[in-house]
Amino acid sequence: MEFKFGGSEINQRTVLGHPSGLFVLFFTEMWERFSYYGMRALLVLFLTSSIMDEGWAWDRQEALILYGWYIGLVYVTPIFGGLIADKLLGYRNAVVWGALVMTLGHASMALEGFTDMFFYLGLLLLIIGNGLFKPNISSIVGQLYKTEDKEKDAGYTIFYMGINAGAFLGILLCGYIGENIGWHWGFGLAGIFMFFGMLQFYYAQKIFGDIGLKPTKEIDYVDQKTIKGEVQDAGGKKFKDESPEKKTEISAKVKGDRILVISVFAFFTIFFWWAFEQAGGSMTIFAADYTDRVLVGDGALTFKVINSIITIVPLLVITYVLFMLFKQTFSTYAKSNLFLGTSFVLVWGIVIFILYREFMAEASEVPASWFSVLNSLFIILFAPIFSKIWESKLNPSGPVKFGIGLILLGIGFGALAYGASGIPQGAQVASVSMLWLVLAYFFHTIGELCVSPVGLSYVSKLSPPKLVGLMFGIWFMANFLAGILGGYTGGYIDYISENYSMAVFFLIFTSIPILMGLIMIGINKFLVKKMHGIR
Ligand code: GLN
Repeated sequence: MEFKFGGSEINQRTVLGHPSGLFVLFFTEMWERFSYYGMRALLVLFLTSSIMDEGWAWDRQEALILYGWYIGLVYVTPIFGGLIADKLLGYRNAVVWGALVMTLGHASMALEGFTDMFFYLGLLLLIIGNGLFKPNISSIVGQLYKTEDKEKDAGYTIFYMGINAGAFLGILLCGYIGENIGWHWGFGLAGIFMFFGMLQFYYAQKIFGDIGLKPTKEIDYVDQKTIKGEVQDAGGKKFKDESPEKKTEISAKVKGDRILVISVFAFFTIFFWWAFEQAGGSMTIFAADYTDRVLVGDGALTFKVINSIITIVPLLVITYVLFMLFKQTFSTYAKSNLFLGTSFVLVWGIVIFILYREFMAEASEVPASWFSVLNSLFIILFAPIFSKIWESKLNPSGPVKFGIGLILLGIGFGALAYGASGIPQGAQVASVSMLWLVLAYFFHTIGELCVSPVGLSYVSKLSPPKLVGLMFGIWFMANFLAGILGGYTGGYIDYISENYSMAVFFLIFTSIPILMGLIMIGINKFLVKKMHGIR
């Protein structure tokens, strides 16, 4: 019998309409992103904390430079990790090795109290491990699907939910434990989960059959990646009927065109992340100094209730997914499931502990860092809806989705610009309503759902099979450039608000993404043609 999905027989059992192996990847990626975003949340705080608070008492600028390098290099190594998997290791081994190296990285960081060297070694191991892990797990997702169709977009959107579940829990748990219990506990915690995540993947990997074991052969590139064996716009003839020489020629052209499309997508994502990543920079400054976060009267209680709900609801959603996976795979991959289950018991324990302490504590203000968690929250809540839209008749073409995503991002900054319009020129503080930030995060997140998972899906569909890992590496490289550019542009916040206004600063991030979005929609037809039948 012909299987619907790639991989083993067990992989044909579905969870939410997708192959169960997708959820093995979902949870593995969740722990890796837990580690990444957990470290991200702790790094600067740790470095700048006083010696009394067991930090390193660095000044802000030094800390931000190290942070920038960490965040940047994490997106450079995937090129090498992808290449190594393509040529040597295969994707599955690369994921296991990457997870192991990251576990060692956390262990090393947790020992920072002994010597500084452990801390730096830890960061280095995280950067190397991430390079092996991130592009290659992203590539396995695509190989679960046999057709290059909208189902794959939907699959990547669910995978993206796993990414953000990890981000959400990592920021929440590592952030809290690191700051309140001890830095090394925060660093170590991510390591424990990364290790469990690795074991969970390792013991379930037979579900993928021979997917990701060795790089795929190049030969039937066009046939394999083209709907019904016809190459559209490559002469309009049936590919099957061509002579071998002609086939090679067509293949090369199709391959070149598709790589061009990936490059165009990657180029536009630079603009997306350039603006989006203001979240950790200028938007956090805006939250800290220009937003009214004071809780008066019943405000404190209301905030605590909202905060508990937005912690527990996503965790319930993820736990539900976990049970669905267990239902399909426990009989075959009990060990893997048990490691995963144990991590969830730990997570629930820590979450209840944190919520209890928070509830008892006095609250007078919404923390400035709180808003950035809204991003992961909105993704977890909206990803299933978007995944359904992509599978329905409403599914627009890739470039149009990209265009819409960029425009939504611009609209989000438009809300901030509107909110900031009352701030006097050059003011150092203000009390703008929190609503604008919430709105901005909402638009940014639904924009992200139109761009980022869709981008992953297209890289998977358009890459020559032999180079998928490398192409994902190049894809992530766009983040590196965007991060650096975003940091520099965000740094102009004071200059622009003194010489023009805060609203003008946000209007820059409103207009450029909208313009790029319109251009993307404008070149839709051209790109669709260059994709040669891939939708
Ligand atoms: N939030 C996503 C992730 O962590 C995308 C990040 C990015 O590509 N900038 O994977």
